[in-house]
This record gives sequence, C-alpha cells and structure tokens, in this order.
Amino acid sequence: MEVETLIRAYNDYIKRINAYKYALKVINFDAATGAPKSAIKERSEAYSFIALEYFKLKTSPEFKSIIANLKNVYSKLDKYYQRIVDLEIKTLDKISKIPPHRYQEFSKLSAESEVAWEEAKEKSDYQIFKPYLEKIVSMVKEFAHYYGGEIDGSLYNRMLDDYEEGMTIKKLDEFFNTLKERIVPLLEKIKASKIKIDDSFIYKNYPHEGQILIGEEILKVIGFDLENGMLRESAHPFTSSISNSDIRVTTHIYENNVISSIYSVIHEGGHGIYDQNINPKFKGTILYDGASMAIHESQSRLYENVIGRSKEFVHILYELLKKIYPLQMKKITEEDLYLAVNKVEPSFIRTEADELTYSLHILVRYEMEKLIIDGNVSFDELPSIWNQKMKEYLGIEPKNDKEGILQDIHWAGGSFGYFPSYALGNAIGLQLLHTMKKELDFKQAIVNKNFDQIKEYLAKNVYIHGKMLSPMELLKEVTGEELNASYYCDYLEQKFKEIYLI
Ligand SMILES: [Zn+2]
Repeated sequence: MEVETLIRAYNDYIKRINAYKYALKVINFDAATGAPKSAIKERSEAYSFIALEYFKLKTSPEFKSIIANLKNVYSKLDKYYQRIVDLEIKTLDKISKIPPHRYQEFSKLSAESEVAWEEAKEKSDYQIFKPYLEKIVSMVKEFAHYYGGEIDGSLYNRMLDDYEEGMTIKKLDEFFNTLKERIVPLLEKIKASKIKIDDSFIYKNYPHEGQILIGEEILKVIGFDLENGMLRESAHPFTSSISNSDIRVTTHIYENNVISSIYSVIHEGGHGIYDQNINPKFKGTILYDGASMAIHESQSRLYENVIGRSKEFVHILYELLKKIYPLQMKKITEEDLYLAVNKVEPSFIRTEADELTYSLHILVRYEMEKLIIDGNVSFDELPSIWNQKMKEYLGIEPKNDKEGILQDIHWAGGSFGYFPSYALGNAIGLQLLHTMKKELDFKQAIVNKNFDQIKEYLAKNVYIHGKMLSPMELLKEVTGEELNASYYCDYLEQKFKEIYLI
C-alpha cells in the first residue's frame, strides 16, 4: 500500500479515538468544576462506558495493524510520522504486556489502597495503610518486570524512564546531590537570619469576586489565550487540554488567603500557555502533548515562581491588588508584598511549600522511593526513615504519620518514579531561562508587560516541538547542555541571600 494511504488510515482512525477522548475530558472537567452532585451516578456510568470504548479503540487489532503497516514503511515516513510510530508502539507495548487480569486486580487494589490511605491519613495511622502499600509495591515491581525489567540493575530506573524517557538513578543522584549540597545550607542560613517576614495581611478577608477578576486579568497579562480557553474553579487547581483550541485552567479560591489562587492561576496558566502553543500540525496525534511532565512542570514553575514571584511581576500584582482590594492593602507596600510571596518557612506539607524548600520535599521522596523499590527496607521502618530525612533536609521533624509519610496520595495509586519530575521541572526552568537571557532582556520584558516576547521565545524553542523530542533531547537542543542543576541553585542563592540579607 502507498505510504499516503497508510497515513490517511492512521489519521482517520485517530479521529475516532480523539472523539472519545474529547468526551471523557469534557465529562471530567465538568465533574470537577461544579456539575451537580445529584447526577454523579449517571455521569460515572456514561464515563465508564465511553472510557471502555476508548480503551477498546486504542487497543483494537485494527489499530495495531495500522501501526504495524506504518512500521513496515518506516524508512519512507517523514521524521514526524516516524516519531508517531515509535510512540504509538511504545504505548501499545505497554498496554499489551500486562495480563488483563493482573491489570484489573491492580485497578481494584489501587482504588482500595487510596481509600485506606485516606483513612490512615485522617487517623494519622500508617499501620492502616501499610498492608496496602506492601501489595501496591509488589505489584508495581511486577509490572516493571513486564515492561522490560531492570535497567542497569535497577527496577526503579524502569519506573523513572516511564515518566521521563531516559532518566536514571545515576543522573538523578547527581542532580539531587547538587540540590542537597546547595539548598540545605542555604535554608539553614535563612533560618538563622534576623529578617522575619510579616505576611499576616495575606490572610485577611479577600472576597471571592475580586479574586476571580484578578485571576482573569493575570491570565491575560501573561499571555494565556482566553479566547481559546477558560478559567473555572475546582477543589484542586489543574489544566485540561480538551483540544488544541480549548485549553482550560482552574483555580481554588480561599477568601482568607489572597495569594493562593493567584499563584495557582499563574502556575496553571504556564501549563496552558505551553499547550496553546504546540505546533498545530501535530493536532490530534500523539505528538500534540508536552515533551514530558518535567518539561511541562518547568514551564508552570517558570511562570509561577521565576516570573510570578519576581520584583518586576510583584509590581504588576501590587497595582492590581490595590485597585481591587484598596482597604485590605491600605498600609501595605510593594516591598511588603514581595517579601510575603517569597517567605521561606519549612513545613511538613509539600503542596504548601515555598519556592526554596519545595525541591527538598522531593528529595525526601526520591530517596524513599529508591529504598522502597530497590532497597532492602522493611515497611515498618519507613515512617521513621521519612521523619529522619525531613529533619536532616528541612530541619523539622514530623510528630506523627499524618505530618510524615502519609503526605501524598501518589504511592497509594502506584505512582513510583513520578515525584522527581517536580524537582527536575524547577531546575529545567532555570536552565532554559539561562539560555533565553542570551536572546532577550527577561526582566525588562516583565517591566514592560511584554509577556508575548517571553512566550514567543518559549513557543519557538520549546512548545512548538510537542512530543517530537524526548525531554533530555529537548533540553540539549535548546540549551546545548545536559541537565545542569547549578542554574537553579544559583538563582535560589542569589534571590534568597538578597531577601534574607545573608
Ligand atoms: Zn503543574
């Protein structure tokens, strides 16, 4: 068959897959943003029916033969279709390697395990969760064997590769060691600093409507296209790319915290801007996605922290807050706001961590995961190892399991190897910025509210590629360098030394 015919067959087929995907995403978004609870039964019935059809389409013999046919003419395909074929084969392989009954058992176990985790967290009792964690770990190890087993003698390497193509313990050890050597002592100095930041004004009452206005205004300012997207509210902020012309972000508003929603909006806006600027040529294909989670997170964090918490951006924010909340902001200066949004305070909760301590939370999780997957550790010891690491890196010791090991839902659902992407994102953002600064005056662009200049640079160099390149290939292509954590550490040191006068 002719190559064009085969490509057409692929494109026709994925239209069907995409129609189901579209419906699933809209149902999800709807459910998370205020669809009536009363219809939960109908909704989940509809959802699971469509999800099953979607799964069948993605794994059907027809689809497999379309991909196999393309593979047969691989050398005649252009580089885009070659990459599409590689990625589709990888996905199909992954799905087909797990015996269906084991997959079903895993779905059941992870659902039960998440419930057990919730109860354990509420009662602050790790013992409730422990038997589930043991079973989950044994199953994710079994699955890692199906996917190809150890890489360089490690199953954890296999799991890392699943989230970040090509990522290994060797690379991550080096990465996290740099973070450990540079951020831990910096945090100690900050704790000893005489500078104490008063951020109490943040927690006054800031009525809901004003926060919505601010959120929309910020999205406009940073260059999120509201004509091809929207902002809604949900319990936890997220971004949903329904289609290339429909990218939706959400936030959560707390009337007693004026910055929480603002920074969620900037973070999700960063994800949204990425998705809005992927090469339209990839529309509908597996390439129409971010390069990886770490690369995606590098963008949301670049917007949230590096741009959003900069002096230049705080100036814009300050004007906006004064206009919408003149009473609450009456005696507050721009400097007060800058210090408040950059206050460093080690806490037990990752999701509430400040910019400096965030990656240390990930360091703890990374070391725990290595032990759990590759090490010979007893599950009874895990809570105390966790607490010890928190003390060593963040200088605070959890008093109970709720403050400690029961922090995150990830392990309950079997996600091992996922956490490092957050810290990688932080560092990759700064590495990309270092290169960007050779071409444009980053700070001046913020001062001039010329966010399009920043967006255009990132679109041209990062977003446009979609999933064409693996994350580390993309990083190398843009910066000419392998992963390098020192730009991130330099940035943190410079910023926080100035704030805390150390
Ligand atoms: Zn994110």
